[in-house]
Amino acid sequence: MSYQITEKFISKNRSGKVLTAKGTVLHETATPGATAENEFRYFNGAYRGVSAHAFVDHESIIQTVPWNEQAWHAGGTANRNYIGIELCNFDDRSKFDEIWKRAVWLFAYVHVNVIKVTTINKDTLMSHAEVSAKWKETTHQDPIAYFAKFGKTVDQFREGVQKAINVMIGQPQQQQNNNTVLYGTVTADVLNVRDGASTNFGVIGKLKKGERIKLGWREGNWWNIYFGDHGGWVSADYINVFEEEPKPKIQYGIVNVKSSLNVRSGAGTNYSLIGNLKNGVKVRIGSTEGDWYNIYFGDHGGYVNKDYIKLV
Ligand SMILES: [Zn+2]
Repeated sequence: MSYQITEKFISKNRSGKVLTAKGTVLHETATPGATAENEFRYFNGAYRGVSAHAFVDHESIIQTVPWNEQAWHAGGTANRNYIGIELCNFDDRSKFDEIWKRAVWLFAYVHVNVIKVTTINKDTLMSHAEVSAKWKETTHQDPIAYFAKFGKTVDQFREGVQKAINVMIGQPQQQQNNNTVLYGTVTADVLNVRDGASTNFGVIGKLKKGERIKLGWREGNWWNIYFGDHGGWVSADYINVFEEEPKPKIQYGIVNVKSSLNVRSGAGTNYSLIGNLKNGVKVRIGSTEGDWYNIYFGDHGGYVNKDYIKLV
């Protein structure tokens, strides 16, 4: 799942100071019923002495301050070090659930792509209440009460963000559990390869119709593909996916004897003779057992001494 981030930078309430964020602060607007667009208008409308990087409602995500500029959301210390994101306040459960989903995604996105800190804990993702308790530069307790109304906690939010991050960065266990390798062919005439999982990201290359690519993992409607040195993203709408089982290497050998080679029912001369093979015959080898090859022979296979088989 991925969502659109709409950039609508406010012209007022801007610090103009550079931010190299080391984490995020989770807020709630405490303005019941106000959408992200309402918040944008409010902060763009006049000097408020307050701002945040983004607002999330049940239908949209609006970014109002660039990620690399300090916003005024949680007191001096947090503002100089953290990105502040506000969840809009709605009473309706289904709207809250949508806001939660979008916010979890947005925090994960920001941690992976902007801050590049992918371990979520109480230092890297703080609630405003935790910021207030730690630096005592503000007294706000959000979003504790808002979350509690819907039976949620900040710790659950952190858990959700960590899981979303793991999906975004492609947890290795997902790949390892599955031995099949996914490939795809391009169905569009020309397909853009982008730097991230949305059309907001830059185009880093193009693929032609029919080209075969190795797929990594899927995020929403986007495939992460093997491309260049760092991979890229393509829309899943234009990829025809197929699986390829890793094929065991097939091994053949040529019988190399003066007359004929005994085929036995087991891996030893004490096993009964079940047939013989002439010099130069090609055999398919199933497995190796000591000095013997198990070969495809008759209905049940047989064993031949390795000394008389030349591998090809
Ligand atoms: Zn706050």
